[in-house]
Amino acid sequence: MLPTGLVAHERYFWHDPGRGAGFSTSSIYVQPDRHPEDPDTKRRLLALLEVAGQLEHLTRIAPRPATMDELLSFHTPGYIERVKTLSAGVGGEAGDSATVGHGSYEIALLSAGGCLAASEAVLGGQVRNAYALVRPPGHHAEADTGRGYCLFGNAVLVVKQARLRHGLARVAVVDWDVHHGNGTESAFIDDPSVLTISVHQDQNYPVDAGSLAVNGTGAGLGANINIPLPAGSGHGAYLDTFDRVVLPALRRFRPELIVIACGLDASIIDPIGRMLCTSDTYRELTRRVMAVADEVCHGRIVATHEGGYSNAYVPFCGLAVIEELSGHRSPVVDPYLEEFRLMAGHDLLPHQAAVIDQAAALVPRVPAG
Ligand SMILES: [Zn+2]
Repeated sequence: MLPTGLVAHERYFWHDPGRGAGFSTSSIYVQPDRHPEDPDTKRRLLALLEVAGQLEHLTRIAPRPATMDELLSFHTPGYIERVKTLSAGVGGEAGDSATVGHGSYEIALLSAGGCLAASEAVLGGQVRNAYALVRPPGHHAEADTGRGYCLFGNAVLVVKQARLRHGLARVAVVDWDVHHGNGTESAFIDDPSVLTISVHQDQNYPVDAGSLAVNGTGAGLGANINIPLPAGSGHGAYLDTFDRVVLPALRRFRPELIVIACGLDASIIDPIGRMLCTSDTYRELTRRVMAVADEVCHGRIVATHEGGYSNAYVPFCGLAVIEELSGHRSPVVDPYLEEFRLMAGHDLLPHQAAVIDQAAALVPRVPAG
């Protein structure tokens, strides 16, 4: 069996979003603290992969910077120039909570290009699937603005290039970040060749996005599914969502590549999400998506790292995803899992099932592949 690819690079951890606290930047009454999108969550995941011995079971893929042509397949020239100019100076704001630090432009190019390199390795048959442990993240970035800590749309660019350069007819994006994948949705809202699915906390960020009613437009009608789960949803709600909505939609659409926008901020101790997922939840979700990928697209999955803000827990959730992708279980036992399992709220509750029922009714509208 082909190996699993991993993209990671020290430079990803050097993107500096400045000082903040909670989700806000520091200000006259917000005492400066570490920014929530802190490099340590991702650095600690890479460190755990190393000490767990998992790196030896992965094939490292070297990232490269995304090219201007690739960026222009989604972003406007004016926006790209704005990020570049801010980055060459002292930095600044590139939209809504999308801080550019000095040198962030080059790092964002390497982040997008790392995801593209992962995808090229999967589509080129060098690896079966790949995890791009990149930073800054991408799923909130829109064509002409940065949003939510995201500068360039990493997953969007993977899909665009898979279609344009590799000639794929259908690609699906499964976004399980706790926040709505607004950037990815905006890129493909009218495109029947790209199925976008976002499973997120209802009315978190962006608060005005991600409703069930946004189901694609024009030729893309039916090819965008939002599942806005109520705050407090956990293992049971997530598994039910995948079993009754995400997996049937993927089976109906039959993509040639599945991109997972892998945010790990639906975890039970994430500081800016209010969900109850554990590493076991992420393990099960990965298994389920892999089972469909095996059926419809030779197991081809590219996971792009998105949010996830618990320094303690992101590494264990990420390890679970990567263990499943690679088929190699490290000796690491999630040290938090037993205690988290004893807490209440993991079972599917009626008000959560009601939302999943509504989302499941959208599956027959997905364009059949
Ligand atoms: Zn997020």
